[in-house]
Amino acid sequence: MAALGGAWAGCLAIGGSHSAGTHLFYVAIVLAAVRFTWRATAVVAVAAGVLGGPLLPADVSLGIAQQPDAWIPRLGIFLMIGVLIALLVENPEATLRSRLLDAMASARLLRALKRGEIEVFYQPICRVQDDRITGLEALARWRGSAGGYVSPGIFIPPAERTGAIAHLDEYVLRRAIAAARGWQSGAQPLYVSVNLSATTLAQPRLVAMIDRILGDAGLPPHLLQLEVTESAAIDDLPGAVRQLEALRARGVKVAIDDFGAGQASVSYLQNLPVDVVKIDRCIVSAATSDDRSRRLLEGVAHMCDLLGLQVIAEGVELAEQLTCLREIGVPMAQGFLLGRPAPAGEIHALLDVSALR
Ligand code: C2E
Ligand code: MG
Ligand code: MG
Repeated sequence: MAALGGAWAGCLAIGGSHSAGTHLFYVAIVLAAVRFTWRATAVVAVAAGVLGGPLLPADVSLGIAQQPDAWIPRLGIFLMIGVLIALLVENPEATLRSRLLDAMASARLLRALKRGEIEVFYQPICRVQDDRITGLEALARWRGSAGGYVSPGIFIPPAERTGAIAHLDEYVLRRAIAAARGWQSGAQPLYVSVNLSATTLAQPRLVAMIDRILGDAGLPPHLLQLEVTESAAIDDLPGAVRQLEALRARGVKVAIDDFGAGQASVSYLQNLPVDVVKIDRCIVSAATSDDRSRRLLEGVAHMCDLLGLQVIAEGVELAEQLTCLREIGVPMAQGFLLGRPAPAGEIHALLDVSALR
């Protein structure tokens, strides 16, 4: 209400129309802000600015001139107020300051992408039985000016909140698929696993984009695995199901990432069309601490098995954890013990050694 009052006073102060008609446009803008996204609200606000400026029939009939120096600032106020209310309604906890910081962090990430400062590292996914590498997960790294790497834990959360993550995902997909094409010289085919954010999963052009990237690189779709988390699918479950089904129909594999770390895991196994379940590090690392935790891991792995889903245990750091996985019968694992994420060049050398085993 304060924002509305301020906007109305602002409109009058800059010499905007004194007819009630112009101010009624706020009803449409506020309704759009409450009901739709900030982008849709921006469209409504611009439309209201145009209609309330040069085109408002009431003012024209009253003979009041609608000069650009009055209606253009009013359009700006419509836009600002609409977007502000929509952003606050979308996430009432976020302060204006945190939104600004997210926007700045995302702008820096987009610049880094353009300058080629984002690299893709690859972490082996291995067969538990003999440690042989069967696939690699692509993980984004930002090369800092001091030569070190910034972890995704720093730059991904703000990019997820602003939607800039979609640019990163597309970049990583292109790089990872091209790299995977180069790994196929050995006897065993190797797949690449790429993380997809909620924003990317919601993009209508996702399936066509993946078709195109796979086609350009000449990588068979079954050698691409896409990792989604429960939270990525939670926003729009029917939409996520449609996209994942379309991808699976092409042969692309779908994995649920960080399974067991969220809150709605089991229902998601039922509802999401997936091939693979990656059991979260928290369940894997606890399994060697006591019998109850071991049974939990065993139960989760057995449940996935019954559902015909392949299991990958994440975050294996200790030899005793790997032994536990072998005893339980978990077929695949990933973790620092088996291989840390590394640049594409180092991975090539590693694959040559792995192929000899
Ligand atoms: P994730 O997809 O679950 O990836 C596994 C994370 O666990 C990676 O962290 C990896 O370095 C770390 N990890 C692997 N093995 C071990 C282990 O044995 N112990 C411990 N403590 N950690 C291990 P990283 O690279 O920092 O990535 C964090 C998260 O950022 C990823 O979690 C993924 O959700 C996200 N991410 C990374 N790259 C991308 C990307 O290109 N796009 C999107 N949307 N998300 C990404
Ligand atoms: Mg992952
Ligand atoms: Mg994970």
